[in-house]
Amino acid sequence: MLTAEDLHFDRQHIWHPYTSMIDPLPCYPVISAQGSTLTLADGRTLTEGMSSWWAAIHGYNHPRLNRAMTEQISRMSHVMFGGITHPAAIELSRKLVRITPDGLDKVFLADSGSVAVEVAMKMAVQYYSGDRQPRKKFMTIRQGYHGDTFAAMSVCDPDNSMHALWKGYLPEHLFAPAPQSRFTGPWQSGDMHETQQLLEAHHASLAAVILEPIVQGAGGMRFYHPDYLRRLRELCDHYGVLLIADEIATGFGRTGRLFACEHAGISPDILCLGKGLTGGTMTLSAVLTREAIAEKISLSPAGCFMHGPTFMGNPLACAVACASIELLEEGHWPAQVAAIERQLCTELMPLKGHPQVADVRVLGAIGVVECHQPVKMADIQQFFVNEGVWIRPFGRLIYLMPPYIIQPQELAQLTGAIRKAIEKPELFGH
Ligand code: PMP
Repeated sequence: MLTAEDLHFDRQHIWHPYTSMIDPLPCYPVISAQGSTLTLADGRTLTEGMSSWWAAIHGYNHPRLNRAMTEQISRMSHVMFGGITHPAAIELSRKLVRITPDGLDKVFLADSGSVAVEVAMKMAVQYYSGDRQPRKKFMTIRQGYHGDTFAAMSVCDPDNSMHALWKGYLPEHLFAPAPQSRFTGPWQSGDMHETQQLLEAHHASLAAVILEPIVQGAGGMRFYHPDYLRRLRELCDHYGVLLIADEIATGFGRTGRLFACEHAGISPDILCLGKGLTGGTMTLSAVLTREAIAEKISLSPAGCFMHGPTFMGNPLACAVACASIELLEEGHWPAQVAAIERQLCTELMPLKGHPQVADVRVLGAIGVVECHQPVKMADIQQFFVNEGVWIRPFGRLIYLMPPYIIQPQELAQLTGAIRKAIEKPELFGH
């Protein structure tokens, strides 16, 4: 199905994420995917540990998701959203309003996670745009990740995302330290100190605080204490600054709650969703906000929210997102995620104390082994493929976030491959 010439063409002509165009890291050709298994062109199968970067929560080739898309295609795959609406967008928005934290009643359907972050930040700026002193600054915490477009990059960790490279292009925002209190450990009130000082000093120019609730993903795979989020909500209320929760990675059950904000019992002013929204089948994101915010934006000088992408509310993506949420609503995911969490704890926690391992942490269907040294990407990737698993580490982090439907023996294969990898010093180093 794929010839050597095809793969040569890929190497010569196609950008892949975060690798050189001249001397790219190897790419593994996948020709089909089913449940928790990817099939390579040479017939080998790999057990999926990444859910295609958090997205394929129900596994691949799910008949219910496929049916939703097929049925929608037979009616219409796309129609513009300007001046037009359609059943799939209405049904999806109704579901999102129902399942998300309280008060988030107004839904903006966008194209991808990064665009959702752009939309959320624009909403916050536009919210204040009619005030005598419009606010244009954002505050966030270090070690965050919010996407690769410019506004999103400006609130990513300045070191991880190399702000130095974009100096002059990126607006400069405020960075509080990343919370140090771990999800499972005691709350250290000192964690709030600098955050509070920054808010006290700068609140009059701050449109919003933006952060990933509980789990900081691509910026370090850190799990922080719910009290940080709870206190931050109080401080934002106290200083009159909006709170944006980026649940693009954490949403739809990954952390053991449907939304990570639920761990702290808070509701943000603006919520970003993506990735698992369509069960990992199509690109779609959603930004939800409160009625009062939508109202003030509508009364701002522009008279409306100034964003309207071509594929806004794409019917095909909305239809499959509805089906994905219906699968979640059938209620199997909490037990599935809890079982994954238990197994990840049993099989990964014993690695704590291994000379290669700096830390092991598990929350919901996320397991992280933080090593002392960075992985050698091409080597460790090949090692994992030879072990029959798909795990894509970055930096010093080897981590798993499998589909919720993964079977215990498949998960054991993933954790077993990690255990083997850390015994091989040749897979690590600069
Ligand atoms: N926010 C978070 C928390 C993410 O993890 C990501 C993607 N890794 C994004 C935003 C950006 O989403 P996308 O890649 O769909 O643009």
